[in-house]
Amino acid sequence: MRQLIIIGSGPAGYTAAIYAARANLAPLVVASSVEAGGELMNTTEVENFPGFPEGIQGPDLMTKMQEQAEKFGAEVLYDDVVKLELEGPVKTVTLGSGAVHQAAAVIFATGSAYRKINVEGEERLSGHGVSWCATCDGFFFRERVIAVVGGGDSAMEEATFLTRFASKVYVIHRREELRASKIMQERAFANAKIEFVWNSDVADILGEEAVTGVTLRSTVDGSERHLPLDGLFVAIGNDPRTHLVHDILELTPEGTIKVDGRSSRTSVAGVFAAGDVIDPTYRQAVTAASSGTVAALDAEHYLAALGEAGAPATEDDQIEGLPEADAAKVGAA
Ligand code: NAP
Repeated sequence: MRQLIIIGSGPAGYTAAIYAARANLAPLVVASSVEAGGELMNTTEVENFPGFPEGIQGPDLMTKMQEQAEKFGAEVLYDDVVKLELEGPVKTVTLGSGAVHQAAAVIFATGSAYRKINVEGEERLSGHGVSWCATCDGFFFRERVIAVVGGGDSAMEEATFLTRFASKVYVIHRREELRASKIMQERAFANAKIEFVWNSDVADILGEEAVTGVTLRSTVDGSERHLPLDGLFVAIGNDPRTHLVHDILELTPEGTIKVDGRSSRTSVAGVFAAGDVIDPTYRQAVTAASSGTVAALDAEHYLAALGEAGAPATEDDQIEGLPEADAAKVGAA
């Protein structure tokens, strides 16, 4: 049995792994099979992560975090968690491959998933003109007319990025004021290829084989109109990824995992949570990283306290990386 399993490989997961590995906890990081590295893998230039005055590409930043975690002894598995048993002193994590791992503590850092607009055509035309990732799919829209839905930083970033390819980018927003930060707004306003469509929702997405347009519905008077398009990028935020634990851990009214005060302690002893999955407000790479630090320190203290509590355990409960005596205590705590 291990001391610590970290589920998730965004800034929270890898920062937790760096701290835990440096504390000799030899953490196992379950990084996901397709989403390893988290949301920054779909980002271009990251300009606000301290230490990179020239900016750094999102995927490069995540690769560096992973290297740093591995350098100190973290083990990274590209697999998905399919089942969690978190009650009691031994936490069991079952992966898509069928492998079963056990640990005395778990850090849950699964981040958040793209929000959908839930209209006709969204699922059907996903990959055929509907996308959630400008950096992944922007290239396919060279000299095309496309739209981005949303009024936050993501929408501004995507729209600005997409002007590298598209001939025109509409930004469809349900209000007449953006939620995005000033600097991102100004960048978008200054871009001649971007046109804002205010007070509008996407009522449905049109097209048989590929997107041909959308029906816009006014949020002021409900009137509808057709906007011809070759593609639609949805950038309306994210929801915390809690499906694996929603019946195990207590959640907040916002749907994030509930933690105790400023700590990362969840409603189940030995289970800690960090990053976007606990944060309905800030959701920055830097705040996720700091949250990962908190989780690693909390897990470290928890494991140390278990070690001090002391009690005999079976051989099966032997914890890798701990002296046998301490390992026995953790397993039986
Ligand atoms: P967000 O800030 O929550 O903004 C979501 C936007 O989508 C809002 O404008 C919202 O409208 C709109 N929206 C939500 N649900 C909608 C729906 N069902 N239909 C139509 N519109 C809908 O999300 P985000 O832009 O993804 O940003 C998330 C966090 O990441 C933020 O903290 C942001 O600062 C950060 N971020 C930072 C950067 C950067 O600094 N480089 C880049 C991307 C994201 P309302 O405004 O009317 O609510």
